[in-house]
Amino acid sequence: MPPSQAAALLAWYRRHARRLPWRDHPDPYAVWISEVMLQQTRVETVIPYFKAWMRRFPGVRELAGASVQQVLRAWEGLGYYQRAVNLHRAARQILSNGEVRWPQTASAWRALPGVGDYTAAAVAALAFGKDEIALDGNLRRVLARWIDLPVDVRSPEGERRLLAKARSLLPAGKGAAFNQALMDLGAMICTPRAPMCERCPIRSGCLARRRGTQGERPVRAGRGRVPHRIVAAAVLRRGGRVLIARRPEGGLLGGLWEFPGGKRETGESLEACLRRELREELGIRVEVGESLGAFEHAYSHFSVTVHAFACELLGGVVPRALEHTRLAWIAPGRLSVYPMGKIDRAIARCLVAAPGRESVSADPRKRRPSAGARAGGEGRGVKRSRR
Ligand code: SF4
Repeated sequence: MPPSQAAALLAWYRRHARRLPWRDHPDPYAVWISEVMLQQTRVETVIPYFKAWMRRFPGVRELAGASVQQVLRAWEGLGYYQRAVNLHRAARQILSNGEVRWPQTASAWRALPGVGDYTAAAVAALAFGKDEIALDGNLRRVLARWIDLPVDVRSPEGERRLLAKARSLLPAGKGAAFNQALMDLGAMICTPRAPMCERCPIRSGCLARRRGTQGERPVRAGRGRVPHRIVAAAVLRRGGRVLIARRPEGGLLGGLWEFPGGKRETGESLEACLRRELREELGIRVEVGESLGAFEHAYSHFSVTVHAFACELLGGVVPRALEHTRLAWIAPGRLSVYPMGKIDRAIARCLVAAPGRESVSADPRKRRPSAGARAGGEGRGVKRSRR
């Protein structure tokens, strides 16, 4: 970028920068939390989560001192729950022997749990003023259009060319402003559809604009068909309580609680699926009763329908956690304390709304909840091996 364009971009940013809560006090903690939350998640979704998080865990000491269950509960709804587990682990490393020691460089940040190239570069640039490039979706789009990049922006070659170009453009000492200016330009002017080129501060140097290829940039490899999974889940009751199970940490939805069940196999009925899953997961036999509803959700890499059924224990056998880390019998009114994925939370809410009824609707499809079908996040219904 010629100096005049860099200056124009930074001048535009000074006038038009978005007001975002994590920019009010750009300390390392706020920048780090916001950047992790923003991965795969829209800014409008993140803002209320960020504000609530900062009230709940205002600093790295409070985060390190919390339990992983409290952290997961605060994260609930943002998806990709391993991010929260890693934040918690990293906070405990940053708080070493009672002292807060912030990594100062991108490579030092990369050594923390769950911190990849993007987060490391973003925190180093935005919180510590390092001249790093945080290549998020907005930067990929703006840079790809600006140099009219004809290859997939997520391919190794595409990424290498975008980074090389961006690094050559970055005015020394302006890492924070340069990254944020490009992020805001991508969010406000160089939008995915219908970029507003006439209002763009770098339009005179934009190759895609000159060639009329804005609509073809960025190039992205086509995604395959998203698979759909059918899952059955059980609501087992005992003395006014329901059984929930905690998933092992480290996998999908790791550490969250769910209603036990699993993925239907080819040719299997939902009832047979549930009987098999509960035998394998809990070592019990059940009678499958009324349907409690069909709960649907679309994720970035698959969609799922979870059919929930009231079930009754047979044979007086006590359920055991054969594939979970813990089981608990919980009154429906207390389920809100336990972190869950979106679909299990939707089932839990139905139980609270109709505590005395095994089946809330004769037609379960009428009760299909809007499980907030935002793409992105991890799916309940995905067990390590089969679900
Ligand atoms: S001129 Fe248009 S296509 Fe090029 S960077 Fe600006 S808004 Fe995007």
